[in-house]
Amino acid sequence: MPSLFISDLHLTEERPEANERFIELLEGKARAAEALYILGDFFESWIGDDDLEAPFNAVIAGMLADLARGGVPVYLMHGNRDFLIGERFCAATGAKLLADPSVHEIQGVRTLLMHGDTLCTDDLDYQNWRRISRSEAWQRQFLATSLAERRRAIVGMREKSKEVVQAKPAEIMDVNDAAVAQAIRAHAVTRLVHGHTHRPGRHALTIDGRPAERWVLPDWYGRGGYLEIGRGAPKLVRF
Ligand code: MN
Repeated sequence: MPSLFISDLHLTEERPEANERFIELLEGKARAAEALYILGDFFESWIGDDDLEAPFNAVIAGMLADLARGGVPVYLMHGNRDFLIGERFCAATGAKLLADPSVHEIQGVRTLLMHGDTLCTDDLDYQNWRRISRSEAWQRQFLATSLAERRRAIVGMREKSKEVVQAKPAEIMDVNDAAVAQAIRAHAVTRLVHGHTHRPGRHALTIDGRPAERWVLPDWYGRGGYLEIGRGAPKLVRF
């Protein structure tokens, strides 16, 4: 049975097409999967597990829980938008939180799994924000405010980030080749799967004279899709 890899769904009530595709995947292909890996930015934003009761969140969590109860392991990695997903969400859904990076053996191949944002080392502003927002102090302070305040804060951050992103050259927002090589080397793998950059594809690499490959998952703002790794070569499936 193949394992399925998705990321950057950016689920929100505001994009019903992506939600419908996700439901189709969960009710179809995923039911017969070896495992479902969600490699970050599952939600457009996640302001804390105390928002699990919001109707949209409850529906999505319930569907993931159904899949996990049906016997399909669900693994979830934080992205840059939903890094506040915590233990309560995991307990409610049966999803297992994966550290970024993680190495899993997929069909006999040691596979490095990442969201991908840590590979974009040329984006210094973002890496700085990442350090701050992943700190315990920032998270404690943020989570101590009301849900309404947090929602407002997120809207403000998005507006600011839109302006910043538009002003940045495209290369800065992609992975840094040296960072990719370093990650592959450090984990002694020949295959890397990540999302985040919204540039789906397969990149053949040579690291220290040895072949390796980097698979980039599609975002679901556009067509969406998933990576399927069964017997034989991995397959990038677009909707
Ligand atoms: Mn991302």
